[in-house]
Amino acid sequence: MNGKNTAVVVGGGIMGVQAAWHLAQLGQSVTLLDQFDVPNQWAASGDHLRVFRLTYGKDAFYTEMALKALPLWLELNELAESALLLQNGVLELAVKDNGYEAQSAAVLKERKVKFERLDPAMVKKLYPMYNPRAFKWALFHQSGGMIWASRAVAATASIAQRKGVHIRSNVKVVSLVKGKGGLLSGVKDSAGKVWQAERFLFAGGYWTGELLKNFGLPIKVTRQEQLFLRPLFNRGRYRPEHFPVFASLPNGFYGFPVHIHGFIKIGDHRVGKAVKKADPDLARELTPKFEKDSRKFLKRFIPELAGFSEFEGHTCWYDNTPDGDFILDRLPGLENAFVAAGFSGHGFKFGPIVGKSLAELMVAGKSELNLHRFRLSRFKLRRR
Ligand SMILES: Cc1cc2nc3c(=O)[nH]c(=O)nc-3n(C[C@H](O)[C@H](O)[C@H](O)COP(=O)(O)OP(=O)(O)OC[C@H]3O[C@@H](n4cnc5c(N)ncnc54)[C@H](O)[C@@H]3O)c2cc1C
Repeated sequence: MNGKNTAVVVGGGIMGVQAAWHLAQLGQSVTLLDQFDVPNQWAASGDHLRVFRLTYGKDAFYTEMALKALPLWLELNELAESALLLQNGVLELAVKDNGYEAQSAAVLKERKVKFERLDPAMVKKLYPMYNPRAFKWALFHQSGGMIWASRAVAATASIAQRKGVHIRSNVKVVSLVKGKGGLLSGVKDSAGKVWQAERFLFAGGYWTGELLKNFGLPIKVTRQEQLFLRPLFNRGRYRPEHFPVFASLPNGFYGFPVHIHGFIKIGDHRVGKAVKKADPDLARELTPKFEKDSRKFLKRFIPELAGFSEFEGHTCWYDNTPDGDFILDRLPGLENAFVAAGFSGHGFKFGPIVGKSLAELMVAGKSELNLHRFRLSRFKLRRR
């Protein structure tokens, strides 16, 4: 495949499948390559759930970007005939009067997004599991909620296939083949096959830094743990229709309602320990420290959950940039090659708008969404 209007996308996480689908909608003949299946359990997008929130403290840019992603998620819900984004709301527990949540509330108010400011007594009335002494107030926005992550990847992949996208699993890209005049002519896989196209997108998640190591992308891969626990009591009231996604982001922790086999998920958004290399064989077990920290957090905020006995956990990895902003840009020196990486643990909710914007950038040279914040030139690249 090296004719006109052809594109190869490397990586079938949410960014790759969304970009592939939008490229196909723009008339491209697209082949998507993934080293594993689409979706797969090693990808950041391969988990059950991700948070969809419109709140980003005072960073109105991401609120606006999430507002642009929202109708695209709702469109995907319709196309997939499934609530991939379930808007069961996000409840953020504020430990300060004028901290992160107050800044989020100010941005939501300015953007005319509906939200509620709840005092602890009201939170206790609505959600009796919370300890009202643990926080000063809570911010609730109903338009947030949870995304069924791997299902969203699978649904997008099948919609993209219906639009003509070829998905090739178990194809690991190992190198780039340069052509003439600052163009990339192909990517080589581990079996030696070269996949040619007119344009290329690298959306390899936390493997991207390694694959594009010659470009010196400043991506640090960190270990992030997640714990799944089964409530000992009152399981029914933790169902999504009664219990919104919750977060206390300045403390790091966030969590989801009961979603699979009666389990609730708890995560910590604070950047974890760096690992040298992204490797699917790395240990994925839960550390005793994470279990302890989770119990401590729950004891303070949702005491009846803290004594959990049935639980499991696993590790995922973040692909962090130094400033936490994404990398969505053309690769330096290669007119027809683009990269979508460095999602720094908060990219999933933006998948549809990232995919759409990249497809526009690759085909038309510019996107409706201003991608200036995500350009590579903000970093000093240590090219090899
Ligand atoms: C624990 C955790 C919690 C998170 N929580 C949230 C949240 O609540 N809300 C939110 O918005 N975001 C969240 N995120 C971030 C979000 O999940 C990621 O930003 C997003 O999934 C990244 O998608 P991606 O497509 O870039 O990468 P991935 O999903 O990792 O996909 C990359 C794909 O590329 C393939 N690939 C890589 N290299 C090659 C190669 N050489 N050849 C072929 N294929 C290759 C891989 O196999 C993989 O399938 C979280 C992330 C983690 C780890």
